Amino acid sequence: MINEAQIAETLERAARPDAGRIEEIIAKSLEMKGLDSEEVAMLMGISDPGQISALFDAAQHVKDEIYGRRLVVFAPLYVSNLCANECLYCAFRVKNKAIVRRALTQEEIAHETGALIDQGHKRVLLVAGEAYPKQGFQYILDAIETVYSVKHEKGDIRRVNVNVAPLSVEDFKRLKAANIGTYQIFQETYHRETYAKVHTSGQKRDYDWRLSAIDRAMEAGIDDVGIGVLFGLTDWRFETLALMQHIKHLEDTFGVGPHTLSVPRLEPATGADLASHPPQPLSDIDFRKLVAILRLAVPYTGIIMSTRETPGMRKETFALGVSQISAGSRTNPGGYAEDEEMDASQFSLGDHRPLDEVIRNVAELGYIPSFCTGCYRLGRTGADFMDLAKPGDIKAHCGPNAVSTFQEYLMDFASPETLKVGEDLIERTIATMNPIAAERSKTLRSQVINGKHDVYC
Ligand code: SAM
Ligand code: SF4
Repeated sequence: MINEAQIAETLERAARPDAGRIEEIIAKSLEMKGLDSEEVAMLMGISDPGQISALFDAAQHVKDEIYGRRLVVFAPLYVSNLCANECLYCAFRVKNKAIVRRALTQEEIAHETGALIDQGHKRVLLVAGEAYPKQGFQYILDAIETVYSVKHEKGDIRRVNVNVAPLSVEDFKRLKAANIGTYQIFQETYHRETYAKVHTSGQKRDYDWRLSAIDRAMEAGIDDVGIGVLFGLTDWRFETLALMQHIKHLEDTFGVGPHTLSVPRLEPATGADLASHPPQPLSDIDFRKLVAILRLAVPYTGIIMSTRETPGMRKETFALGVSQISAGSRTNPGGYAEDEEMDASQFSLGDHRPLDEVIRNVAELGYIPSFCTGCYRLGRTGADFMDLAKPGDIKAHCGPNAVSTFQEYLMDFASPETLKVGEDLIERTIATMNPIAAERSKTLRSQVINGKHDVYC
């Protein structure tokens, strides 16, 4: 699946791209049919400010064409920091004595969920280390059931995505039966030698078991999957071409690529020195190039930006192609209900702002924050989603659903300041939509204003 020699050759060939070729690639990217590895490698090599700005303009254009002005919002829900692995960059690593260990009880998970619902969240990403309390993997299944079961006056969690260690096909089937949205897992590094150096003990040492996890998830019927790289462990250009190979493998084997890509950069983590000294840090400018290149290479795949990054960097990458963001996050189990960041966190955050502030800021930037969970609940996942996304039709669903869920948020949870910014933005956005999307938006919005909740198309 990952051919390191081929990646090295591609990077070598792309080392001296001429200006004409870069122009051609950027022009091709505007057709929104994606780019191949050679083209990606050439774009990664550019450093001329004029070429970089042409790249960013193209990414912004493609992002607007396909996704419109919506940004999907979610929160991570850390249920446990118990872990049997020794990943040298992570605070949850088994030998780390500097953090407080904790696996939330189902009651505590319900409290956490309630706290997220009361902030206005509708989508969570459930996260855990790779060691479960005595119930084993059933603990995660129970946690998902608990999250879905919490109903508050103003809402509930409508989609639970999951980021947990690789499973067998049998366990993936159980995960699917628990009604998850996306199953997400990051290879961390696709570079075998680096992988072995930073994963020194535990099941996670097995590179191939991890790399084949998405294949098993697909075999088990989970067709909505997310992959990613933890940038900073080795050369970002190698990782990006390996990511392209992984995507191609999934497309060739299952007829559909990943639903989302994640691009975390290493952040400092308590008791994990490696995280504070990334072996090959990804600079800010290369990080922005990375997001723009991915947007052009796989135009229909969502790109997720977490609160690892600062508000300034998050803002820049929204324009370049990010389609989903986390907000108001805590990475310690119990962090929402108990409202504190203690020494049980996985890594330090770059964006500490509460949800309402993030939402207001996103809206001020002209993006509609979306809490939509429509596609997954209508069964538009995997290849069905891609079929819809590819001709650009997704805008006709995502736009109106963003409007209705944002309107719901504004009425139920927003501060007066955010409400004002949000209402103005909705008006302005509907005015720029195509007639079908505008009509749908108005209908759904008036249903929400008249007291209906959870309406989507
Ligand atoms: N334990 C499971 C695993 O490793 O796949 C799932 C959860 S793990 C908490 C989620 C992700 O956090 C990891 O895949 C890794 O990419 C990321 N992570 C770990 N340490 C990090 C750090 N110091 N900075 C940024 N991201 C980190
Ligand atoms: Fe455990 Fe995942 Fe952290 Fe590794 S990255 S120590 S597996 S929680």
